Amino acid sequence: MKLGLRIKRFFYRRIMKPNILKLYQKENAMVDRRNTIASTEQSPSRFDIPMGLIEHAEQGKPNNIMNRTTMRPMISNIKNIHKSYDSLRENSEKPKEKITDAILEEIKDFGKKHGIVNLGFTKLPHHLIFKEKAVLHDNAIVLVLEMDKDKIAKAPSRETVGMVMNTYNNLGIAANKIAKFLRNHGYSTHASHPLGGIVLYPPLASSAGLGWFGRHGLLITPEFGPRVRLAAVFTNITNLPYAEENPHSWIPKQCATCGKCIKNCPPKSLYEQPIIKENGLKTHNDSSKCFPYFTGNYGCSICIKVCPFSTTGYKKLHERVMKK
Ligand code: SF4
Ligand code: SF4
Repeated sequence: MKLGLRIKRFFYRRIMKPNILKLYQKENAMVDRRNTIASTEQSPSRFDIPMGLIEHAEQGKPNNIMNRTTMRPMISNIKNIHKSYDSLRENSEKPKEKITDAILEEIKDFGKKHGIVNLGFTKLPHHLIFKEKAVLHDNAIVLVLEMDKDKIAKAPSRETVGMVMNTYNNLGIAANKIAKFLRNHGYSTHASHPLGGIVLYPPLASSAGLGWFGRHGLLITPEFGPRVRLAAVFTNITNLPYAEENPHSWIPKQCATCGKCIKNCPPKSLYEQPIIKENGLKTHNDSSKCFPYFTGNYGCSICIKVCPFSTTGYKKLHERVMKK
């Protein structure tokens, strides 16, 4: 067996797998813990990317996501997911519940310093919590981080997947820092990492008014189209300024005349029309086709690259659609 392959298998078996199994124990402990908010019967199952990667490696299937550029951010991602659980013990037993406008502004500034390009607030619908997972609070601060434009334009490539893993890592670090920042002000928080999160992020972000779904099932934001990653901080703060409307509901009109993501998806995993599952949630992507391709082709990202919201941009497309 080639040295590179041996290192890869060692990394997955000896480092990633035991760490991920420990994470599952922490997730299960949240479900068993008193006063947490659990998933509902309508909740979706989480598609577990880190464990999926390990299974691919164990079965000897093509997997070039794991390479020299991604190993370090992958380890850091796992470390920061652990931290999001371990830091829960730092929450005050009698946290404050009301936030002032001044602290809200401080969160936005603090987020910006850590690369957060936008954040929004919403009540977490409990059916968005993944099956057999639980969160500490259901008031959500949703965080958006940009992915590098030039590296998305090179997708799929080693450079692209390296950038994606680093974006996950930077966002996970920012979510933990924002959770800590609020704890230091006397509130209770629970950070949800962008990789292996506890909730379905795109509908949560849409509910926070941060964008709308495209036909690729990803959130389209006004700032960067689908070229973003999402995370959240859940908190006991009861007076967050929840979004009351969503100005991006025109996006399906653009999608109706486009379909580029569907045409350009190499394994044809995107549905022409989303499927409505029994739980009422929509699914746009057949993960049994996407994931093997994605794993063998540097995390793919072609659907993000070809989307006109990544290339032409939100503003121009909005003007065109409104003129029609
Ligand atoms: S590629 Fe076209 S159809 Fe797909 S999400 Fe983007 S705008 Fe919509
Ligand atoms: S990541 Fe690639 S395989 Fe998966 S839906 Fe997008 S284009 Fe298709």
